[in-house]
Amino acid sequence: MNVVDWPSPNHAPRPADAAVDVLALHYTELPLKESLDILCDGAREHRVSAHYVLAEDGLLHRLVPEDRVAWHVGRSHWRGREALNATSIGVEIVNLHGDRHDYPRAQIAALIELCHDILARHPAIVPRNVVGHSDIAPKRRIDPGLRFPWARLALSGIGLWPRPGAARLDAASLEGDVQAALERFGYPPAVGVTTADIVASFQRRFRPSRVDGIADPQTRALLADLLDQVGSEA
Ligand SMILES: [Zn+2]
Repeated sequence: MNVVDWPSPNHAPRPADAAVDVLALHYTELPLKESLDILCDGAREHRVSAHYVLAEDGLLHRLVPEDRVAWHVGRSHWRGREALNATSIGVEIVNLHGDRHDYPRAQIAALIELCHDILARHPAIVPRNVVGHSDIAPKRRIDPGLRFPWARLALSGIGLWPRPGAARLDAASLEGDVQAALERFGYPPAVGVTTADIVASFQRRFRPSRVDGIADPQTRALLADLLDQVGSEA
């Protein structure tokens, strides 16, 4: 992997008592240069950053050391915790709109290598804690988008993906309230957003072919399978 140091002034100390246990993936929505300019701008009113920016050709830009907090997620929630910048690593992937533009092969190959390195350095990042910005900030954020290859990453051991057959309608279906089940997996409560927003967020990640916010049988079956995979970890 080709790596270049591109230091950003936008970072803070990690809290003393918190292990890094979340890996958050984003798309930049802007070309490489503009993205780096914003993420390294120490004079903006709302300063932002990320640990890494990954160019379309796979060149990795290292902005913030992993033992410092970068400011990449903002208001966020996962598995009962909020303000996830403190305990997460953020990777910004250059893509102008992940719903419309595919991620180039070289970029994803570099991303997989980077994620393997990060996961090896931070064993507390369990598979379900590899998330998209859209998972931890439903409605407010849609990145990394419908074209992000989550299944490819999961095949490489990065994050979770429903098992083959999970989407069949005769698969084990989800019992009970969908909001409660989404929260068991990690999604936020319906506060400031609706359950439909959170279902849409789940679909964006795990069933990108139809994102309508309706907890239909297929959506429920996929969620049941994922909960089964995490088992007692829930
Ligand atoms: Zn983002």
